[in-house]
Amino acid sequence: MKILIIGCGGVAQVAIKKCCRADDVFTEIMIASRTESKCKAVQAEMSAKTKARIYTATVNAESVEELTALIGSFKPQAVLNVALPYQDLTIMEACLKCKVDYIDTANYECEDTADPAWRSRYEERVRQKGFTAYFDYSYQWEYFEKFKKAGICALLGSGFDPGVTQVFTAYAQKHYFDTIETIDILDCNGGDHGYAFATNFNPEINLREVSANGSYWENGRWIETKPLEIKREYNFAGVGKKDMYLLHHEEIESLAKNVKGVKRIRFFMTFGQSYIQHMNCLKDVGMLSTEPVEFEGGKIVPIQFLKALLPDPATLGARTKGKTNIGCIFTGYKNGVKKSIYIYNVCDHQECYKEVGSQAISYTTGVPAMIGAMLVIKGVWKKAGVYNAEEFDPDPFMEALNKFGLPWIVEENPVPVD
Ligand code: NDP
Repeated sequence: MKILIIGCGGVAQVAIKKCCRADDVFTEIMIASRTESKCKAVQAEMSAKTKARIYTATVNAESVEELTALIGSFKPQAVLNVALPYQDLTIMEACLKCKVDYIDTANYECEDTADPAWRSRYEERVRQKGFTAYFDYSYQWEYFEKFKKAGICALLGSGFDPGVTQVFTAYAQKHYFDTIETIDILDCNGGDHGYAFATNFNPEINLREVSANGSYWENGRWIETKPLEIKREYNFAGVGKKDMYLLHHEEIESLAKNVKGVKRIRFFMTFGQSYIQHMNCLKDVGMLSTEPVEFEGGKIVPIQFLKALLPDPATLGARTKGKTNIGCIFTGYKNGVKKSIYIYNVCDHQECYKEVGSQAISYTTGVPAMIGAMLVIKGVWKKAGVYNAEEFDPDPFMEALNKFGLPWIVEENPVPVD
């Protein structure tokens, strides 16, 4: 089976290395990104360690023509998009033209938030849905009929969150509940990289997400909060007590659509004081702005300039120590009895580094990206149309998580989040 992997950053490098290990499935791997030297470095590292044949290419994933030419010449069974959310629609468009399955890890975002065409649609969506985050699923869900007609599958958001958190939800629904009433997704990174400020995945995407208004789903509607307004403390297995903050997150939107009868869905992520102080300061001085400003006769986008100054998340592996704990607490009913379970994974940054040379955030995203691609390519998770992870049978994915390095635990009656 041939796979085309687009992007060669922190997450992609884990996904590529895991595909190389699963060389009984992925016999030919094309790595294509903006900077081909990064693809060649991974090719050089992995070629002797895998039976898969690895090729590299340069591609501008903003260009449907370039993507179509590459897909047309390599003829993969699937395209795994681990570049940036800005390129989701062009890559989906190229997959449609070439009738090839599509997998990604993050929903579409428009890079240029000053673009008037995008802005008017965004403002309409804010009025209709009531959350102001720059990203939502509508752009990609609109491809459903086209993908269905072409007989190809798009699996959206096959990282950890989104991704595994939705597989956990489908698993809880299938094996533990008749009705799920509440879902709390808890994303804890107890790792320390030693820098005063760095992000553990692409800085631009990370800071756009964290500095945005928070929101959660309750009783059929969105409730929006100010950025980081809601704070809780939780004692995480393997990590200890951490402060966590309510964020808007994309899987809330698809779970609200797909989990019938759910009353409340919230997403919390942990942050240390140093991260929050730096982020607030950068926001106050305008460095998180996504809109171009005049600078010395040219235009720069402040958040893109900031990205150039911050450490590359792909280089944090050696210095990050500690663990992550990501999972979901569910409450609901089974046979008329109220119950609660917590499904989570604990991942050790240094163990990940020893295995694939990456920190745990890239690892916990890259492994599910590979698993999603593997299930689609083998036809286990294959339906024509555009789908999110909770819309498939969770069992093969859960089995693969145990096999490929992200074992999970089901805890009965966990401490609830108030
Ligand atoms: P990086 O910035 O490390 O990597 C992005 C890669 O995409 C780089 O190799 C970059 O090339 C390439 N790229 C960017 N623009 C283009 C383009 N126009 N054409 C071709 N290639 C391009 O990001 P991460 O690895 O940290 O994140 C990757 C994705 O994973 C993001 O979408 C992120 O949102 C998602 N993610 C999902 C999570 C989840 O749990 N679901 C968690 C964490 C991340 P170059 O090297 O030249 O810059």
